[in-house]
Amino acid sequence: MENISEFSTNQVFRSRADLMTWVQNVARSRGYVIVTKRSNAITKDFISKIVLGCDRGGIARNKNAQTKKINCPFELIGKYLKAHDGWKLRVVRDEQNHEPSMYMEGHPFAMRFPDKEALLVRDLTELDVKPRNILPTLKVQNQNNVSALRTIYNFVQKLGRSRRKGRTPMQNVMHILQTKGYNLLYRVNTVTNELEELFFIHPISLKMWQVFPYVVLMDATYKTNKWNIFNDITKHCRQRIKPQKTWNSFHLKWKKLVESPTLNAYMQNYADLQTLLFEHADVLDYLYTVWLGKYAERFVSLRTNKHVNFRNSTTNRVESQHGKLKKHLESVKCDLDKFIRVIEKVLQSQAIAIKETFTRSPIPLDSIDDFWRKLDLKPFISMEYGDLNVDHRMQRFKEIYNN
Ligand SMILES: [Zn+2]
Repeated sequence: MENISEFSTNQVFRSRADLMTWVQNVARSRGYVIVTKRSNAITKDFISKIVLGCDRGGIARNKNAQTKKINCPFELIGKYLKAHDGWKLRVVRDEQNHEPSMYMEGHPFAMRFPDKEALLVRDLTELDVKPRNILPTLKVQNQNNVSALRTIYNFVQKLGRSRRKGRTPMQNVMHILQTKGYNLLYRVNTVTNELEELFFIHPISLKMWQVFPYVVLMDATYKTNKWNIFNDITKHCRQRIKPQKTWNSFHLKWKKLVESPTLNAYMQNYADLQTLLFEHADVLDYLYTVWLGKYAERFVSLRTNKHVNFRNSTTNRVESQHGKLKKHLESVKCDLDKFIRVIEKVLQSQAIAIKETFTRSPIPLDSIDDFWRKLDLKPFISMEYGDLNVDHRMQRFKEIYNN
């Protein structure tokens, strides 16, 4: 067995460090981590023998502790030989009792499949084919194939690991977004180094957005800020509207108001709200000054955009793409990088579909909402009651992306 070990060598290493480097390189190519288990010294500062093992060798001292140690039998011995004035390596046992634990640089597909099959499994996996459907394909391609479903599952996991190359899931998401050319804005907590905010936009979507800016407001700003807005309202008004019942119907009427599908409905809903709050002039005043006065038009136009028809196609594309994304995501066990890849696919099909409609005919100007036919957003008046942060973010987007 020693003869066929990749660790068998007649090489004389000039130093212990040289020997270690060589061992680590061989180990890494196979996906294992080697550690020094013991070393013997002749004199206080000259070590003459080292016993090397796998990082999963040994037994956990505390049975309850979470440990990687599962008594892996792998062992090598490095010895200083005076006759050679150098180090030689001996293989005691080249055997692991577990799967490789590291990314196998240079050998990503070498584990259990012949190369051709490995590539096929990789390609099918990229296409979202499930292992249980990959297996029959392999058997058809190669009658001698003895793979079990488990083999494919393991391999797919290994693929994932080798794709991530030791990055954490979050680092991997950032890596994918960067290599795919997304425009990124993010903020990291300076103390914990955790990601707190991430905004990304595909270059094609960015172009589309510059042409039809409501896409972003519909899907991101509006939907998340609806929540923020009511939070802010609660902060300022909960104390002033004491009865729970009144507060609840206020909340309902507010929701109805901001979701008004037409301007007429909006006026009606606003009148309802005024009736409910006629004893709370201060609240009405706040709502108008902070929200309705300057955002009303947008609440309504965002709603009406839902019904904008491009040519004869049905409702808004963003909404349907959003539904499509949701459908995609429900059907997969989703980790973060999968999520990004699904988004990427949806974006691509979206871009293709939109481009196709452009080539069929131009979009008639009167099918675009009035709000977006204006050349700029309304200038905002300063806020008196708290800050939602919409304005400065809007400003940031404009500065960055209008250039
Ligand atoms: Zn091991």
